Amino acid sequence: MIIGYSLNFRPINCYIMKGKSSKKLLMCGAFHGLEGITSKILIKFMSEIYKNDIKPSISIYIVPCVNPDGVAISTYGAKCAGVYQSFVEKVGSDKWQANARGVDINHNFDANWYVLHKLEVQNGITGPSNMRFGGEFPESELETKSIVKLCHKEKFDCAIAFHSQGEEIYWSFDGIIPKNSEIIAERMANLSGYTLSAPEGLAVGGGFKDWFIKFFNKPGFTVEVGRGTNPLPNSDLESIYEKLRPMLFDFVFNADKYI
Ligand SMILES: [Zn+2]
Repeated sequence: MIIGYSLNFRPINCYIMKGKSSKKLLMCGAFHGLEGITSKILIKFMSEIYKNDIKPSISIYIVPCVNPDGVAISTYGAKCAGVYQSFVEKVGSDKWQANARGVDINHNFDANWYVLHKLEVQNGITGPSNMRFGGEFPESELETKSIVKLCHKEKFDCAIAFHSQGEEIYWSFDGIIPKNSEIIAERMANLSGYTLSAPEGLAVGGGFKDWFIKFFNKPGFTVEVGRGTNPLPNSDLESIYEKLRPMLFDFVFNADKYI
């Protein structure tokens, strides 16, 4: 189903794989323009479930690409920015993380947004840019609103946001540790070999998993896939997927036991 549209009317899709239990897990990727590889990983994961006709232990909702304009701009250039083309050209379209009008979706969620905003200003980020500007107010952007609306409607029991890069898993926010978060985080780390981490500085607040944890008090995670410089090359896709596969399929087969 389509959960919303980007500023340039690109659809934001959500695919649903019904599970055996009534619990629900959300996985979403590509909040950032340079992180299109996370969409490919989620699509690969989904295809494997469909191809093998697997019924997951809990329902899995997948939004492969939260920021389709950002991914298009960073991949194909400013011509993909529609009415924002001249703005994007002025800033420069390489290293484009934000949406088409220069708001960083993962700084735009309503979780300590004002604290983050202050930090942005202190760091010289005072307006639309290729990255790290959190918008004029929380949830100001269509892309943010689409995910927020989906979460309010579906009441997920757990949510995972995929970013790149660093091979790390972030699992708490602002001292809030929802029930089972630690167990799930350790399980994810063991199965992927990724490191459990706590964010610092400009990574504190405004993010999707921050908002999900704060608003719902349910386990929320950020998984930073792969290693290297964004955008990670397509040639990394296979090895990143293989490393994540045990963790992804643990959710498919066993999530009803720990979520
Ligand atoms: Zn990111």
